[in-house]
Amino acid sequence: MQHTPWHILGAGSLGTLWACRLARQGLPVTLILRDTARLASYQAAGGLTLVEQGIGRHYAVPAENFASQTPIKRLLLACKAYDAEQVVKRLAPRLAEGAELILLQNGLGSQEAVAAAVPHARCIFASSTEGAFRSDDWQVTFAGHGFNWLGDPAKPAAPYWLNELADSGIPHQWTADILTRLWRKLALNCAINPLTVLHDCRNGELQQHPAQVATLCAELAELLEYCGQPQAAVDLHEEVLRVIQATAANFSSMHQDVARRQRTEISYLLGYACATAQRHRRSLPHLQQLHGQLVQHLQALGLPST
Ligand code: NAP
Repeated sequence: MQHTPWHILGAGSLGTLWACRLARQGLPVTLILRDTARLASYQAAGGLTLVEQGIGRHYAVPAENFASQTPIKRLLLACKAYDAEQVVKRLAPRLAEGAELILLQNGLGSQEAVAAAVPHARCIFASSTEGAFRSDDWQVTFAGHGFNWLGDPAKPAAPYWLNELADSGIPHQWTADILTRLWRKLALNCAINPLTVLHDCRNGELQQHPAQVATLCAELAELLEYCGQPQAAVDLHEEVLRVIQATAANFSSMHQDVARRQRTEISYLLGYACATAQRHRRSLPHLQQLHGQLVQHLQALGLPST
């Protein structure tokens, strides 16, 4: 059987994790890299390395840059939320009739922007709890087993190719409630990550700020209720406390970005929550104050605050 080729935009943490698992299953995968220099660097390395349980394996996945003209039928978008719309606009002329995009971006906001930029393509939203990080150039370490929820708010039918993910060992489930999953993850992130940046601490140290966490959870639950996501609000505070305890020794992803002086995805997380509250003309004073403090903190470090 002829398989539809997978194009993967971005050979970063998640892009590499997906590319290697699909390629070792014998599926046709092509990486799309940023520019000629990155392509030359990749070709010099001769492929991707995925480290699992301390063992690195090499995968010579073919790669191209934006100059390629090959039509794209299935695209895994594995860049950060703030890059997604621009990247997809550049690739739009290459999207074949009926093309499908799988959007791996964290938070909310980038998916809508991408879908609006390519109205003729099907956009499948993903929410991933898998964990991976770049341990070297073109090398990624698979750090945390997790799960991938996939869904399409515009069309509930599952695509026919989900068995390719199952065969490749990519844990996933199709869901009609992908927006609820994304909102829930966003709310957990808003209750934990900005505080870890402002207190400069590991997740577990938030146990010393119970009132602050409780107030944020109450406002986030209120936000979820009035923007039509009451399911995402159920037992939010309890889950936040559980996550803080279970990941006590970890630094949050936003803390790691700031520690490395890298751009955060603030606009698609806390920024998106505050913008939604504003659109609904609701006042969420503690969330808005937290957003203001985070913006100031990022600006003081010379980092983008959007
Ligand atoms: P990442 O490691 O920073 O990788 C992003 C990749 O996108 C990089 O390889 C980058 O290329 C590429 N890219 C950006 N702009 C590009 C462009 N114009 N053309 C070509 N490539 C471009 O990011 P990530 O950690 O995989 O995260 C991707 C998304 O998944 C984020 O929204 C993140 O929050 C979410 N997520 C990540 C994890 C995780 O464990 N890492 C878990 C759950 C969710 P260069 O290599 O050239 O910079």
